[in-house]
Amino acid sequence: MPAADFQYSEPGTDDGRPPVQCEACRSAFESDSRQAVSFLLVDQLTIPLVSCEDHLEQFASVCGLTTEDAAETLDHRPAGGVRCPGCQHAPHSGTQPVIPVREGAVLVVACPEHQSKILQRFQAGIQTRRTLSSSVDAATPSLR
Ligand SMILES: [Zn+2]
Ligand SMILES: [Zn+2]
Repeated sequence: MPAADFQYSEPGTDDGRPPVQCEACRSAFESDSRQAVSFLLVDQLTIPLVSCEDHLEQFASVCGLTTEDAAETLDHRPAGGVRCPGCQHAPHSGTQPVIPVREGAVLVVACPEHQSKILQRFQAGIQTRRTLSSSVDAATPSLR
């Protein structure tokens, strides 16, 4: 297999992914630095994410709809660190899933297990919000 298959590709320029309209989100993705990583605290989970402040907030508030406690975001590594070793060592790269959040997006820098957990929560949150208010035009997350 040629080495080119493993080249880094920018999130948003991949096949089938819609372009991210939010500039702040795009520049967060492109910074390719651990510093750009934020953390979402929801229930017992600590999920590393990359996004702009606004879309991170929106993502957190949707995820928080499925829990009793509101979801929290941190722009620095939490005091206890990331408990999951898979998430701790997850590569910050274009191979991670990008979840569309309105005109922006959130890059999930987590292990596959936690990627799917947080995606489920986000989707459940969107369902909850649709039920609460039919006027909300939240983007439907899609990884395909
Ligand atoms: Zn954004
Ligand atoms: Zn994990």
